[in-house]
Amino acid sequence: MNKIILSVVIPVYNESACLNELISRTLAACWPLTKPFEIILVDDGSRDDSARLIREAADRNPEIIGVILNRNYGQHAAVMAGLAQSKGEIIVTLDADLQNPPEEIPNLVREMARGVDVVGTVRQHRQDSLFRRLASSMINKAVRRATGVMMHDYGCMLRAYSRPMVDAMLQCREHSTFIPILANSFARTTSEIPVKHEARQQGESKYSLIKLISLQFDLLTSMSTFPLRMLSLTGCIVAAGGMGFGLFLMAMRLIYGSTWAVNGVFTLFSPLFVLIGAQFIAMGLLGEYIGRIYQDVRNRPRYFIEEIIGLRQPNPPSQ
Ligand code: UDP
Ligand code: MG
Repeated sequence: MNKIILSVVIPVYNESACLNELISRTLAACWPLTKPFEIILVDDGSRDDSARLIREAADRNPEIIGVILNRNYGQHAAVMAGLAQSKGEIIVTLDADLQNPPEEIPNLVREMARGVDVVGTVRQHRQDSLFRRLASSMINKAVRRATGVMMHDYGCMLRAYSRPMVDAMLQCREHSTFIPILANSFARTTSEIPVKHEARQQGESKYSLIKLISLQFDLLTSMSTFPLRMLSLTGCIVAAGGMGFGLFLMAMRLIYGSTWAVNGVFTLFSPLFVLIGAQFIAMGLLGEYIGRIYQDVRNRPRYFIEEIIGLRQPNPPSQ
């Protein structure tokens, strides 16, 4: 059997409406490369017809491998399950909803041929809501500052990784992974290319507000303990501000007498609430870290595979 050069890993969660188009467009994008390739479709516990469609596609096409997880573990866990089954020298990940056009795969492969470890992408004319775009831009700035890796668009999962990067990621056992950041923490060289972005044509985003917030916490805490440091810094600034305000109140009382201070007693509430707010944020963030430590201490598998369809040479079991 030929050595697989390219693996395309796609997480699928209730995407039956666009699955057939995704598969035919991805196959059409990979064939002209004339390199042995595989397309790994990971069903993340879909409740619609996705798993059956993946099964059928894997039976029809020797290039397609279906990995069926027993329930929904989230996009990044599903991608990890796909990465664990991949054999290619270059691994490309993309979303199943066709927001990332599969036609960009050859461009990513071409960029990888320059010998970089990770190729990121920047979505041109991003077709998402204003809220999503604003949140993304804030997060991207924070990630750039914290990791020191100058990539522009961490949210886009259309990316390519070299085999050593994927092997390094698979050795990481933490549950709350955010794959683009995890990869960059191992990469020596990275590059970025612009890609098209399309509006979601079928179905709706699988990220509810709560899931989105949980993903942002994963992202934040997966970077480093940098947010904890920022927390202490913010605490110091708020405390210093509070002290300054206290001195100001005292000075005003001395200058204008007690009438002023009594009238101004309610102004105390404002710094008080600032401090209480800061404490709650701090406790919440600490809780996020502790929750993740608890998850990892239990050391449960990140996902369970129910079935693998179309795999010619089984991989050693991995979680
Ligand atoms: N996805 C998944 N498990 C989940 C949520 C999403 O495998 O729990 C997949 C989904 O099928 C899609 C990709 O992750 O292929 C991105 O999801 P979506 O397009 O809903 O996210 P958005 O584009 O809104 O960020
Ligand atoms: Mg999408």
